[in-house]
Amino acid sequence: MGKAESVKEHPAVWFQASACSGCVVAVLNGAAPTVRDLVVDQLAPGHHVNLRFQQTIMAASGETALQILGATEEAKEGYLLVVDGALPTAARGLFGRAAKKGGHTTMHQRALELAAKASLVIAVGTCASYGGIHAAEPNPTGCVSIAEALNAAGVSKPLINVPGCPPHPDWFTGTVAQSLLFGAPSPSDVDPVGRPRRFFGRLLHDLCPRRGEFEAHKFASTIGEPGCLYELGCKGPWTHADCPERGFNHGVNWCVRAGSPCHGCVEPFFPDVSCPIYEKTGLPELPRLVRDQDSGELTAVLRPKSSEEA
Ligand code: SF4
Repeated sequence: MGKAESVKEHPAVWFQASACSGCVVAVLNGAAPTVRDLVVDQLAPGHHVNLRFQQTIMAASGETALQILGATEEAKEGYLLVVDGALPTAARGLFGRAAKKGGHTTMHQRALELAAKASLVIAVGTCASYGGIHAAEPNPTGCVSIAEALNAAGVSKPLINVPGCPPHPDWFTGTVAQSLLFGAPSPSDVDPVGRPRRFFGRLLHDLCPRRGEFEAHKFASTIGEPGCLYELGCKGPWTHADCPERGFNHGVNWCVRAGSPCHGCVEPFFPDVSCPIYEKTGLPELPRLVRDQDSGELTAVLRPKSSEEA
């Protein structure tokens, strides 16, 4: 068997819904692996991601692009679906439209159609994972996450959340690489809100270089002062991510190191409970994603009741 024949192709579709494109920019900024490794070379030895549709970076446009998407959708081999952005559901979904071959429909409907034929769904960014800024109160467009949309439609699919506003590119490429090599994640691979434990398994607060100052009660009173940023609204004590070890922008920096409190952007409570950003807020109750213990497929999304509903 020749070298080219030994490489396994993995078709993939990236669907952009109600988003700011920040997640795309973040992934394009990956350093190790790079976006070239992701979509041109091999992301993992012997595995190539054949990204067939990504409207920000693909060369094709219009009907040509939609034909490629339609052909991928109809192929029996299945595909990895990446969903970026929240899905508007208010006013019958009319706040977000998506083109499809021969016409158009709502982003919400299109995401459900694409997910129905996907072998695995990866939600990239906090908006796709939990609704994020687009679903912030009072959420006039009725934005929901892909997990909530699938759950409401009764569609059960392997799904993994890679939140962040934006996510670190390693979190995304590492999750894709693991799925190429080992398939859909098992329930033990992900935490109760659907994130890979590999990247989101520890509290940011436990990894923070200012933790000693927290324990010693040496708190900064204004931005720019040395000391722990807890009194300035840092959400690190209940945020799960490895930002302090990994660093953004090619490992150069991350929020607290740059002097800014952590905003908790990878958590389901972002941004409603994180705000006001620069004030201390209470520990929120989190929604839970329930999975089938054998297949790992998502079976329910349990949202905590707000104080008004309770
Ligand atoms: Fe924790 Fe934030 Fe203080 Fe770091 S700066 S120790 S994450 S409260």
